[in-house]
Amino acid sequence: MSDANVASQAYVPFRQGLFRFEEGVGELLGGRCRHCRTWYFPSRRVCAKCLSQKIEVLPLSKQGTVYTYTTIYQSTPEFQVPYILVYVDLPEGVRVLAQLTQCSPEAVRIGMPVEVVFEEVGRDQEGRAIIGYRFRPVGPWVRES
Ligand SMILES: [Zn+2]
Repeated sequence: MSDANVASQAYVPFRQGLFRFEEGVGELLGGRCRHCRTWYFPSRRVCAKCLSQKIEVLPLSKQGTVYTYTTIYQSTPEFQVPYILVYVDLPEGVRVLAQLTQCSPEAVRIGMPVEVVFEEVGRDQEGRAIIGYRFRPVGPWVRES
């Protein structure tokens, strides 16, 4: 393994196949049916609409809107509370579940515009950063700190 490969493995995704993350830049990956153009997240092997197996994996839009949300006040010790879970509708027609970051429970609203961000969510046993995705507010909802 070359040094470049070692460097590129300084992080691990929290789950394979959901996103691409290189040099600090990430994008969610969806699956689009080549036959009927229906999108999926996560991608899948067979289209649920037309049963085609010709699914191509492509980047999803970075911005979407909050479909709904809930605030978590009790969790396992690994998670600092409170935190907000959101379902985000992306323009492709997929709905993504993730944490909302950089937003207080009082400020979150249905329909608010958000964008995906990629952050370290923990460390694995070898000390590598585990990278996951969250959403944060954009536009008038951005909080000045
Ligand atoms: Zn299809």
